Amino acid sequence: MKKGQRLFQELLVDLRKLYYLGSTLQILAWDQEVKMPKKGGKLRSETIECLSGILHEKFTTSSFGTRLRKIKKFSKQQLNDEQQAIVREVLHDYHKAKKEPKAFVELFAKTASQAQNTWREAKQKSDFPLFQPYLTKIVKLARKRANYLGYRTSPYEALLHLFEPALTLTEITALLEELKAFLIPFLKILQRSPVNPNPQRLFGNFPIEKQEKLNQYVAQRIGFDFEAGRLDISEHPFTSGLHPDDVRFTTRYDKEDVLHTLIPTIHEAGHGLYEQGLLAKNFGTPLGEALSIAMHEAQSRLWENIIGRSKIFWQFFYPRLQKIFPKPFRSIPLDDFYAALNTVKASLIRVAADEVTYNLHIILRFEIEKELMEGALAVSNLPRVWNERMKSYLGVRVPDNAHGVLQDIHWSFGSIGYFPSYALGNIYAAQLYHQAQKDLPNLENDFRRGHFERFLAWQRKHIHRHGRRYRSTELIQAVTGEKISAKYFIDYLRTKYSELYKL
Ligand code: ZN
Repeated sequence: MKKGQRLFQELLVDLRKLYYLGSTLQILAWDQEVKMPKKGGKLRSETIECLSGILHEKFTTSSFGTRLRKIKKFSKQQLNDEQQAIVREVLHDYHKAKKEPKAFVELFAKTASQAQNTWREAKQKSDFPLFQPYLTKIVKLARKRANYLGYRTSPYEALLHLFEPALTLTEITALLEELKAFLIPFLKILQRSPVNPNPQRLFGNFPIEKQEKLNQYVAQRIGFDFEAGRLDISEHPFTSGLHPDDVRFTTRYDKEDVLHTLIPTIHEAGHGLYEQGLLAKNFGTPLGEALSIAMHEAQSRLWENIIGRSKIFWQFFYPRLQKIFPKPFRSIPLDDFYAALNTVKASLIRVAADEVTYNLHIILRFEIEKELMEGALAVSNLPRVWNERMKSYLGVRVPDNAHGVLQDIHWSFGSIGYFPSYALGNIYAAQLYHQAQKDLPNLENDFRRGHFERFLAWQRKHIHRHGRRYRSTELIQAVTGEKISAKYFIDYLRTKYSELYKL
């Protein structure tokens, strides 16, 4: 065996060991949200902190770095394309991990943990001044983090790259600006429509056990493999992929609103399908990992919205839903159900928003994050600016900070730069789905009959199985023959909602 190849094989063995440790951490985090008794919290944070430290240390030792650089030298002659991609991505992670000093990572984690506790209390009391000093600290640390990570034009870009490394701040801004320029007037047009669906009609009394069965059924039908995964309950739905053969997702239940559970379940199942679609042979390497948070959201939002809120999807599932819950669904025709499920209504809370207004919630956060990071906006002015923009973009008045600037958990744990992934995910999803429809004739007929295999196989072939082999920009260009564009998402929204609101 040639030297480069031998070194590469040794690297794989070491990487795998690190991944065993990483997946142990993941299961501890999963257990914390799903099973752990309340009093176990202190031990669990200490355990996670300690193991994360060990993982970080092992990954950033200089001998590991030296070996990586040696392999890189042989890379072009002795390694195949996939192996070269692995070396490229591991080096990327290694440099990133080396950039932030250990003491800084610990300080950030500690501050975020305190900020999170205070945020909970502040949200409960709708008391922004209580949270303000913590958020000020978080913003300062996030700026410091950006300095460590490095950036060209704006510190915000360094943070955005944690969630989507393939796009520059300028490119993300252009995509979101285009979307915003469409959404604000479009929302006003929808609001003037005389069509007035009634989502209240979908409420009822839905026993949890029946809902659990329904969730399992729908997730399985769209392709989630329950032999290689499970569905549990947690306060906030999430997905954890340890390995393609062990993917866990969660949901939460609402006795009166079955869709409040089912729709997020489809979203998380969409994340789960991505994780199950990674190749087991790549476990332990970056090719066994999802491409980016934005691409992950593209998968989940595609299933949740483009498919899960479509009429063709419900043509198959609605009769089943009516059978399980005759009240109230027997008396609601499919068309009315579909309209109610897709009601567009400007509202205060992001997570409860419809497909159209959701993106304005994200754009507002994107702009605010950018201004905070660049020092153009002071934390103390945040509530005022938030409320002004909610009024100007969505036309809603924010009654208190709990329903405004304090509603999301993200900033309290230091995740500045995450929000745009949701809107980018929508943009990617629409563009990819547009291509899938071209590649797979009569796809809609499959869905009408409850068959999702052909589409899932398409996703697997073009997206899931590659892991981090390509960047999002390359992948979308290769699959669709075009650059990432907001056009497809805008067209999708315009067509769907013009029909629903009879424009
Ligand atoms: Zn998600």
